[in-house]
Amino acid sequence: MSNPPDTNDNPVLPDSGYRVHDESRPQPPVVRFEGNPPVPSDAVRLFGGGSLDGWVNKKTGEPAQWKVEDGTMTVVPGTGDIRTTRELGDGQLHVEFRSPEIIKGKSQGRGNSGIFLMGLYEIQVLDNYDNPTYADGTVGAVYGQYPPLANPILPPGEWNVFDIIWKGPVFNDGSLVSPAVVTVLLNGVVQQHARVLQGPTQHKVLAAYEPHPPKLPLSLQDHGDLVGFRNIWFREITF
Ligand code: MG
Repeated sequence: MSNPPDTNDNPVLPDSGYRVHDESRPQPPVVRFEGNPPVPSDAVRLFGGGSLDGWVNKKTGEPAQWKVEDGTMTVVPGTGDIRTTRELGDGQLHVEFRSPEIIKGKSQGRGNSGIFLMGLYEIQVLDNYDNPTYADGTVGAVYGQYPPLANPILPPGEWNVFDIIWKGPVFNDGSLVSPAVVTVLLNGVVQQHARVLQGPTQHKVLAAYEPHPPKLPLSLQDHGDLVGFRNIWFREITF
């Protein structure tokens, strides 16, 4: 058995002021998985499978009209994008999704949806299983800005897992202090690493930042396809 390190003589780290192996340095918080489906104990459960409580129509604020069945929420085409009532800032987002089992359309017309961080910044959801499209519109793309580094999507009907680490833009007095940064893993495969966004994602035009609050609702896109979602949670983190 070894004794605890003697912290007194160890060198001081340049950024934190703690000594190397400092016994007085605060412990990381313990996180355990709890509930059904299990989520980290410090996460906010945004969709657990039971109901669309906490989700509303993005445009009108009326109750969300997507279908909930078997622990899954599925887009009901024409009912519109939905958003959380809760406002979210920086942190870690977990979203599971599946492409429609009945394949129809191609390119952007097949299994299209989207995860809009802060309601403004889209990580593309698309059925890219044997279905190429323009690179910056591929599943896991920062839409219209950055193609993903890889395309590990599973066949239609199978569940895919997105893990997204998000740091929103910072504004001061109406000017941009630091842009948004995102890291994206799909099915455990890195798609974006510390990607610096050019602004809110757009279709056919260049992005440009406009000041907005540090916390905004998360939204999901109704692009007319029967994409399903389940087990959505968010851990707020101060980076
Ligand atoms: Mg989309």
